[in-house]
Amino acid sequence: MKKIPLHVQIIIALIVGAFFGSFFSIDTNKLEIDYKKNNQEKSTIIKDWSDLEIYYNEITTSFGKDDQSKIVRLFEKIKNENNVSIRFISRDREIKIKNVTNISKPSTPATVIKPIGDIFIRLLSFLAIPLVIASLVVGAASLGDVKKLGRIGLKTFALYMATTAIAITIGLVVANIIQPGNKLSSQAKSKLLSADLSTSTPTDITKNLDVDIVDFFVDIVPKNPFQAISSGNMLQIVFFAVFFGIVLTFIEESKRNVIVTFFDASSDTLIKMVDFVMKIAPYGVFALISATVADFGFSILSTLFWYIFAVLLGLLLHLCLIYIPIIKFWCKFSVREFFKGMQNAQAIAFSTSSSAATLPVTMECVEVNLKVPKKISGFVLPLGATINMDGTALYQGVAAVFIAQVYGINLGITEQLTIVLTAVLASIGTAPVPGVGIIMLVMILQAVHIPPEGIALIIGVDRLLDMARTINNITGDATVALAVSKNEN
Ligand code: ASP
Repeated sequence: MKKIPLHVQIIIALIVGAFFGSFFSIDTNKLEIDYKKNNQEKSTIIKDWSDLEIYYNEITTSFGKDDQSKIVRLFEKIKNENNVSIRFISRDREIKIKNVTNISKPSTPATVIKPIGDIFIRLLSFLAIPLVIASLVVGAASLGDVKKLGRIGLKTFALYMATTAIAITIGLVVANIIQPGNKLSSQAKSKLLSADLSTSTPTDITKNLDVDIVDFFVDIVPKNPFQAISSGNMLQIVFFAVFFGIVLTFIEESKRNVIVTFFDASSDTLIKMVDFVMKIAPYGVFALISATVADFGFSILSTLFWYIFAVLLGLLLHLCLIYIPIIKFWCKFSVREFFKGMQNAQAIAFSTSSSAATLPVTMECVEVNLKVPKKISGFVLPLGATINMDGTALYQGVAAVFIAQVYGINLGITEQLTIVLTAVLASIGTAPVPGVGIIMLVMILQAVHIPPEGIALIIGVDRLLDMARTINNITGDATVALAVSKNEN
């Protein structure tokens, strides 16, 4: 029997996984409660509560019957507190449980298999940082002279920034035309606005995100490269690897060759490791998608329909109006071949929501299928995964306008230009991992005086949009890599 090609297997896994996840979706009327009684661990499932209160540290937070996700999120934050207890009313009975140790959504076959997906993401993620270092060192060293590297670096940076600025502009235009915030019914508005920030958003969001631009640049220089590597600070890693690679060209050739050969062989080995990891990609993708779909509250889709539509339309427009013309007219490359060659990376980006985890696959696709020379892709792609986030920037543009509309704030041209500027900066500083785009959105909202609590409105659909915007993020990196390589001939 003819073997099904890997990219087809991955697409099948995506589709089947989505069906599997929706079939075994989590029951939103149930909560699993673990607690301690007489020093023994106990567990119970509560069903159909009409009113639920969580007590800790003399704080009481109340929830209604639709708040399963909020309850779990609040518990995630307070799980290290002692003496958490809950009181709820279910079928007209009031029940109290003390010493609660965990509150979670009940598992289903679709969520039980998630560890397979987690292993897959981990396998890709641990390859990403060594691969970034090895390919940047080889890329920077093999480009020969500093002038050439400077020219390529400048072109790459300019293209990344230009495509990002266009992306936000498209996002702003689409949001201003569709007006998703004004299409919300007043009932939906007040329900979404009543969402409490403290229970709806990740902890980091509430901390102050005032970014000082000088500090931002100072922070690009690592104090200790090993610390940068261990904490995964991509910008610092890029700085160190490029600097190291450039300076290699200044030392004795015989010594330089030893180091370049070492990193070159390492990068080949890492790419080979990607090949092996990709063998389990269909299983990983299946597990990730089914767990995400099972956990996704679809009811919110209809409420936020116009917002989701605006983001997805913007992403599609950016693809058609910017990437495709660059590929077709600038690079004179077949658009079909491009998307066929990038399929695997796009499917992985969609299922992992992480440009960093996808980077090893993006590099393989760009080198093997788009035939971009390794010394260009090895330099352009790691940089792109770190600083180029077109999809994220576009989404932030739509989200900012949407939130402003819900709050009835009018954004003039100055505010919209401020959004473009801050979103370009934010996209450089956004870590290429799931969900960071919404955290950086806080910085943008603060810049134009929109209440940052507004992100509570859109957090419910963030995972879905994260999956979509990550596809644009990595497609943008690949397009620029192709454009730079064509331009350098
Ligand atoms: N998940 C995105 C990425 O990794 C970043 C974001 O928008 O949250 O590219």
